[in-house]
Amino acid sequence: MIYFDHNATTPVDPEVMVVVQEALAQYWGNPSSIHRVGQKAFAELEKARERFAELLAVSAQEIVFTSGGTESDNMAMLGSFSATPGDSVIISSIEHPAIKGAAKKLETIGVEIRIVPVDQDGRVALSSLEQLIDDSTRLISIMSANNEIGTVQPVNEIGAIAEKRGICFHSDAVQAFGKVPIQIRESGFSLVSLSSHKIYGPKGCGALFVKQGAPLTARTYGGSQEFKMRTGTQNIPAILGFVKAAELAIEKMESEGKTLIALTELLYEELVKTVDGVVRNGDSIHRLPGTLNVSFPGASSEIVVPALDRMGICVSGGAACASGATEPSATLMALGKNREEGVSAIRFSLGRSSTEEEIFIVVKAVNEVVSRIRGK
Ligand SMILES: *Cc1c(COP(=O)(O)O)cnc(C)c1O
Repeated sequence: MIYFDHNATTPVDPEVMVVVQEALAQYWGNPSSIHRVGQKAFAELEKARERFAELLAVSAQEIVFTSGGTESDNMAMLGSFSATPGDSVIISSIEHPAIKGAAKKLETIGVEIRIVPVDQDGRVALSSLEQLIDDSTRLISIMSANNEIGTVQPVNEIGAIAEKRGICFHSDAVQAFGKVPIQIRESGFSLVSLSSHKIYGPKGCGALFVKQGAPLTARTYGGSQEFKMRTGTQNIPAILGFVKAAELAIEKMESEGKTLIALTELLYEELVKTVDGVVRNGDSIHRLPGTLNVSFPGASSEIVVPALDRMGICVSGGAACASGATEPSATLMALGKNREEGVSAIRFSLGRSSTEEEIFIVVKAVNEVVSRIRGK
């Protein structure tokens, strides 16, 4: 089996597994209980929060643990301003469905959603962003890196614009975290969404960075956990596993990044050499190291993905969240790609275990499958 779908999810790192297992056995107490069993769990939870904050170079009071990227995105979109008719929110045209879905919800209560376009490589045009801002703008939400094409946004520049206009800046950094450097303070972020399972941690766990003083209404009520922002007994094993995963990812980021850039470039070169009409999607410089998105016009990803799966190769067409849909990828359409390119895009997302040997096997398989579908 070859797994080239790390942007959908990653296997849990063995070191993380040890931490989770130990936490299940040792720290099962309710961290809100005042007795020793509870306080033992509480101490570990707060130690993890401190460590996580240290990794992000922020303070522990600014970390709210959540159930994952989707919840963090929804909290930021729906809870960072009072949402009254006439307000406006700016998002990019290639946001994750968690942001797009929350934006739809805001529209139902009269909030205007303004979409900032991206260029042909998926980068937000700063001049377009500036033009969309006015006195009604309450929030700018632009992802740090895209899950489908891997394009990394100029977040420092976007943050500077937001700061100058005094507008709250949220970024979905789920894909960027642990893969490319994130500088929360320097980028002027007020809110940042993070998730555990994209960085070899357990699923159902994530975090929202909430800048000191940034307004945020509670997601749940009753209880005082997570600074009353997200109440309910915390999932300590998952949180400790997430923090361990973050530690490992940041530690390995530079060396792993170099390896993954080399592997994805090799994959691209070999595909171009072997398969006709390969179209690269996304920015080839400002990108996540492990992501390569290419279209094979004439070979629909709906057919290519299951065919590769039968050969033991796991990849995605468009986003995993959109699988089963016959529509072309909305992200690729936003890049100005044509419909054929949109329906034939394959996302190869490599990870920690990926090898050169796997690249050659995948290229051979892709060539066989694509040629067969094209009828050559
Ligand atoms: C996976 C992903 C999410 C959702 O995170 P979950 O933890 O699965 O809810 C949000 N945004 C991006 C960019 C993602 O890749």
